Amino acid sequence: MNHRETQKQITELRRQIHRHDQLYYTEARPEISDYDYDQLFAELQKLEAAHSDLVTPDSPTQRVGGAPLKEFQSVRHTSPMLSLEKSDTLDGLRKFDADIHKQLPGENVEYVLEPKIDGVSITCRYENGVLVQAATRGDGTTGDDITANVKTIKAIPLKLSEPVTLEVRGEAYIPVVAFEKLNDKLRQANEKTFPNPRNATAGTLKQLDSRSVAARPLSAVFYAVAGGEFTSHAEALEALKKLGLPTAHFWWKCWDMDGVLARYKSDIVAGNDETKDLRTKVPYELDGIVVKVNSLDQQRRIPAKARAPGYAIVFKPEHWIKPAETKLLAITIQVGRTGVLTPVAELEPVFVQGSTVARATLHNEEEIKRKDIRIGDTVIIRKAGMVIPEVVEAVTGKRTGTEKIFQMPAICPACGGPVNRDPEFVAWRCENIACPAQLKRRLEHFAMRNAMDIEGLGEVLVNQLVEQKLVRDVADLYALTVEQLAGLERMAEKSATNVITAIAGTKNRELWRLLHGLGITHVGEEAARKLAGHFGSLQAIAGATVEELQKCKDIGPVVAASLHDFFSNPRNQEVLARLRQVGIKPKVEISRPQAKGYFTGKIVVVTGTLENFSRDIAKEKLCSAGATVGESVSKKTDYLIVGANAGSKLDKAKKLGVKILTESEFLKLLAT
Ligand code: AMP
Ligand code: ZN
Repeated sequence: MNHRETQKQITELRRQIHRHDQLYYTEARPEISDYDYDQLFAELQKLEAAHSDLVTPDSPTQRVGGAPLKEFQSVRHTSPMLSLEKSDTLDGLRKFDADIHKQLPGENVEYVLEPKIDGVSITCRYENGVLVQAATRGDGTTGDDITANVKTIKAIPLKLSEPVTLEVRGEAYIPVVAFEKLNDKLRQANEKTFPNPRNATAGTLKQLDSRSVAARPLSAVFYAVAGGEFTSHAEALEALKKLGLPTAHFWWKCWDMDGVLARYKSDIVAGNDETKDLRTKVPYELDGIVVKVNSLDQQRRIPAKARAPGYAIVFKPEHWIKPAETKLLAITIQVGRTGVLTPVAELEPVFVQGSTVARATLHNEEEIKRKDIRIGDTVIIRKAGMVIPEVVEAVTGKRTGTEKIFQMPAICPACGGPVNRDPEFVAWRCENIACPAQLKRRLEHFAMRNAMDIEGLGEVLVNQLVEQKLVRDVADLYALTVEQLAGLERMAEKSATNVITAIAGTKNRELWRLLHGLGITHVGEEAARKLAGHFGSLQAIAGATVEELQKCKDIGPVVAASLHDFFSNPRNQEVLARLRQVGIKPKVEISRPQAKGYFTGKIVVVTGTLENFSRDIAKEKLCSAGATVGESVSKKTDYLIVGANAGSKLDKAKKLGVKILTESEFLKLLAT
């Protein structure tokens, strides 16, 4: 291939990767599998490595991060990054509107209503369409140059769809779902977890080593532009989107303040109807709703406040701020798969953001100490991203003196075995490898849908199997008989047969499933898939040296060491030998058809409240089963998935003859 052809091929690869980034990160409708994406990326990397003169700063390969910085450079903002005025009453909004009309007598004032994203402000400068600089807000006048870090955020294009020069303002965030996964990972690695997504985002953006930023699930939303020629804010938002920048998932243009208030009631808080609450529809946490004057000419004519523009106000509905209070009755301990002891708050049941909460994680001992939470305290509960209940703080003013300081138990509450704490780590662990609680979690993990996927082997059955000593490790599952199961409580012969058949049916599951199911520290689903694709057999992975393991993409020294430890442990070797004896023969899948499934190419809408997962999760599942998720029912809709209290969408679907699925039908199809 001559130089010109290489150049052409590189340009084409970049174009394709850019397009798939957009589809995946901005539009949430991937068209190719992760595997195929990785192939494109690897090809580009190979070409660029051989032709370093063709590497440009806007190439997707430049997202992986570079050498760590000693410190951040300061950047002076071209226009100050301001704060926003706040109001927590609707009257405050009306007063804001009245003040604006005083400034603009006789004029009609349109507003735009948009989410205030609870992340970290950033500003990005594009020159001729190429991202050249990104900075934090800092003190509003000067911030830190975090260009290298921001370049790793795949939702932020390195190149816009047009060669324009402008500066865009936005908010970086970590999606709530990804945040939970991140904390799980940190917990597994015995590292400190983050108290909330905003904090995790801020901490990540402040890292001097952009390679570690690249490993974090950051995303962004842009809401303003300096330097373009627009007449209205709405127009600017449309333009941002057209340029390929991620914008808010929802925003509305309203004729006047009455329109704002009506929209607020129908789509933002909607009384107690959680499904209409805006917080359930966006992947980030909301810090309120921003109301902005739409016309940019009018914006310019409204005098600014001391530290905030005059044309905008943030409204925080009272019940978004008002936390739920309850009593912390006790702190119990959960023993995880790897023996980590997690304190759990047992609460007097309380209604929080749409559902009753009786338990909440307290993360670890350090967190309890830091927040000074005591047993018997009145505590404040909230749900991170409307989903995960957590204890925010103790109301110290309500203490009576009878509250007790929590002490981590000196022995494992499940097995009485010794617990240990590495001085470097925050976690306590039960050191007993035969600990029944750990075994239960390990079996559950092995049977999980994204591991060996054993139908019917859930928590209740696992508990019985361990308590009756029928199973000591995962290999024992394959020796179970129908008679043994049928002898258990609440287990009919038919379901016993089903479970035994299900277990036997997993002997030829894909290698990555087995590898993930083994529950090796640091080896999650992603790593398992990569290892399986790279090595092709369990024997090859088990026999690899730490150096060889690191030849596999994304396997670093920590994961490699953990794998090596696992496979050199004689106890694990014995389990693996027995798995082979019972006929486990994993199949190796080279490609990963992630975005294909039963719903491939179908348009699916979800309505009502689902029992098994939040709507966002349901949508994610649908996307990874190949569906396009629609917001409203039309003739084009293929399926409507109906949860409890479904409303007008169900009526419409019936009228149009759209196929209706119950939640359990949906679950079954997802598994096919
Ligand atoms: P505050 O710092 O609480 O006074 O709020 C101002 C900050 O809100 C800005 O610096 C932005 O980073 C952030 N913000 C989040 N979403 C928006 C939005 N839609 N419009 C304007 N600012 C926003
Ligand atoms: Zn134990």
